[in-house]
Parts: sequence; C-alpha cells; structure tokens
Amino acid sequence: MGKRSPPPAGYKLRKAKQNPSRRALRATLNEMTDKTRAELAQSLQKRIDWLLDPQSAAQRNDADVMRAVLHVYAGLARWGAADVTTGQALREQMRGAAIGEFLRGDRAQAVLSAYAGEGENYAQRGRLDGYLNACQHRTAIQALQDDFAAVLAISAPLALESVGDFDDLLCEVADDATPVHRGQIPSWAPSTHWWWWKPDNITVSMREYRARLYVGELEEYEGSQPGSADWLRCEDNKCWCFTAPP
Ligand SMILES: [Zn+2]
Repeated sequence: MGKRSPPPAGYKLRKAKQNPSRRALRATLNEMTDKTRAELAQSLQKRIDWLLDPQSAAQRNDADVMRAVLHVYAGLARWGAADVTTGQALREQMRGAAIGEFLRGDRAQAVLSAYAGEGENYAQRGRLDGYLNACQHRTAIQALQDDFAAVLAISAPLALESVGDFDDLLCEVADDATPVHRGQIPSWAPSTHWWWWKPDNITVSMREYRARLYVGELEEYEGSQPGSADWLRCEDNKCWCFTAPP
C-alpha cells in the first residue's frame, strides 16, 4: 500500500470548482440523475409499448423482440438507487407482454446468447473496469429468466449454456471484483442478485479503485494530484467508499 496523504479540509470542494476532470471522472461511473433516469424510463416505455401493441405484432421478428426485451431489462439494471415504484411498474408491464413465442425463436436465442457473451467479456474485466457492466448484464438476464421462466427453461439450450458460462466466470471473479457503489445497485434487485454485493469484504482504497477503473488512462488529463481519487467517492455514507482509505 502506498503512503496516504489525506486531503486538507475543503480540498474536494475547491478542486471540484477548479477542475473539470471531477465531472469527467464521475460521469464515467454511470451515475443516474433525475434527468437521465427520466430519459431512461421514457426510452424503456417506448419499447414496452411496442412489445404490448397488438398492431405491431404481425411485423415483428423474434430477434427484434429479444433486442427490445433486453433493452428494457438492461435499462432496468441501470436503474440505480432511486424510485423503486416506477422501475417495478415498468417491469410489471413486461410480464404482461405476450411474447413467449418470439422469445423461443432461434434468432431471439442467438441474440440472448450474444448478450450473455458480452456479459462474459465484462466479467473477464471484473477485477478492473468490467464488473459494473457484468452485474448489469447478469441482472438483466435474471429478470428475463424470472419473468419468462418457462420459455427459456424449455427451449433455450444454447442461450442457457452461454448464461451458464457467464455465471461461472462471474463466480470466479466476484471475490476480487472491483466493488460497485451502493447507488449503482438497482433498487428493485433482490438479494438473489448476489453479484452486486461482492466482494464480501471490501478493502480497496480509492486510489486502487481509480487505478482499476482507469488503468493508465488517467495520467494524461489529471496528473497525480493527491486526493484526486477521492473524487470517485459517491458520498453515500452507507457505501463502502465512504470509509475506504484514500
Ligand atoms: Zn460509493
């Protein structure tokens, strides 16, 4: 562990005003604001409307349906901490969509399989910058499995295999995963989505956290000013980062 130099009082505020890189850093944490969440909800509702619309049913193909479904679940996985009700209402609508036939289609299965493969790629980078995305992919797939269980259990050997591979890798990486901030965990996710709460004991310092996320990209625009890793704290006092060493 390198030597720690705690920032002087007021450091964070002063730097935040002077230096735009705080915003640049925080933006890459995928933080949800009220505005971005409202935009997200709108985009999810659009897909759901399309999935529920009997008029458009005739023109659908199974790959498009799976893409729309994954768009919705992936969006819900990025939902973050706030507003459980809207998130749940969106999900409730999904359960009412008569799309089982489509989800069973070969092309739909291929789309799901590719999505699981993408999640596996993120899990491969789970000890660096990939873990948050891996969690989001896994949660999206789990929600799909939960809401359309029969469809996937019976007729999706290929997709299930991809999900299985993804799961194996996620288990492997979880103990040394780069932790996610509390506010990045979707408020609706049950504790069975265990991946969000890993590793069990989080010992990572903010500097190490930064190094894991920004492997080598940071120096060019930030230099190595002391305290700058503190900008990645989310300021939630129940989050691991609140007490993490600098
Ligand atoms: Zn945090």
